[in-house]
Amino acid sequence: MMTLKAFKYRLYPTVQQQILLNKTFGCVRVVWNYNVEVFNKFDKNLTEQEQPLCTTQLKKQFEWMNEVSAAALQQKEMDFKVFKKNYFSKSRKKKIGSPCFKNRDSHQSYRLPNQKFTLNNSSIRLEKIGKVKLIVDRAVPVGCKFMSVTVSKNVCGQFFASVLVEMEIIHKPKTGQAIGLDIGIKTFLTGSDSLTVENPTYFRESQAELRQAQQHLSRKKKGSVRRKKAKLKVARIHNNIANQRNTFIHQITTKLINEYDFIAIEDLNVSGMVKNRKLAKSISDASFAEFYAVLSYKAAWYGKEVVKVDRWFASSKTCSCCGWKNEKLTLSDRTFNCSSCGLEKDRDLNASENILKEALRVSSAIRTPSECQSV
Ligand SMILES: [Zn+2]
Repeated sequence: MMTLKAFKYRLYPTVQQQILLNKTFGCVRVVWNYNVEVFNKFDKNLTEQEQPLCTTQLKKQFEWMNEVSAAALQQKEMDFKVFKKNYFSKSRKKKIGSPCFKNRDSHQSYRLPNQKFTLNNSSIRLEKIGKVKLIVDRAVPVGCKFMSVTVSKNVCGQFFASVLVEMEIIHKPKTGQAIGLDIGIKTFLTGSDSLTVENPTYFRESQAELRQAQQHLSRKKKGSVRRKKAKLKVARIHNNIANQRNTFIHQITTKLINEYDFIAIEDLNVSGMVKNRKLAKSISDASFAEFYAVLSYKAAWYGKEVVKVDRWFASSKTCSCCGWKNEKLTLSDRTFNCSSCGLEKDRDLNASENILKEALRVSSAIRTPSECQSV
């Protein structure tokens, strides 16, 4: 199966290159904002609307645009055309908001098509910028087709190159194993085969650090240098938390995809749960939504199956042995005790077994009994 995959690398540009990169971000922003401006002039009373100038014409007006990659400007122009097409498309289901102006404080980026860059072991050659040093922690496999590169700068001032390639993804070997997963706040995952994954403690540590930095920021005078510094500190911590979460989710999903063919999870209503403020912090920490998304796309890539069980299915309250329901079970009950068959089991483990059973029941795939035996 051919799939598009992105490989992201941290860039280490020289001071000179940083200036050029910032200029490119600026010019690309001008192209976008100019198109937004013309778009907003739309007047239904006029028979003929003002058409935006193309980048070649824009460059005649703003000569300084010639300093940066023409391809980058064209890509941004194309992005706007795609936006416009989607905006006016009659078949789209969701409403798209009006286009926004971009400012220099937000996340900056520009894209180059494949002819305009070359990736090596320790550098990337970007049009009009030259060879920029980078560190390759995960190399692009040999034989992949390079599609584009997106150069970006985050709010902490770090530069990145995300290289998009088209590659053949080979399905992972089958293991014959199935697992049901109960997702929780204390323990991130409880598997029906007793696998447990704890929530990393560093999420909480970073959270405490963040709270302190935010308090510092709130005490600084508006417009002061100290405030600017404090703001950067907050952005850095946010960035760290996102990176930690990302690493955690990738590790656990890779392990699951490698070890199991069939993964059953409960379709929790994440947005509904986050509204409950008491739970909110832990839930956003654990970032279930991200976990689901990553697990699902990896399963599709590697030929494994993820089945979601209806969130109204009473996984915690049902006895995994005989099916008896304990309607009185509360959040504080950590053990499931069955009044019917006498089963005594850890609450999460009991739930995960029910999730697996239910997923196997609803799954249209016909499974051999041996595959269900791993319960
Ligand atoms: Zn029972």
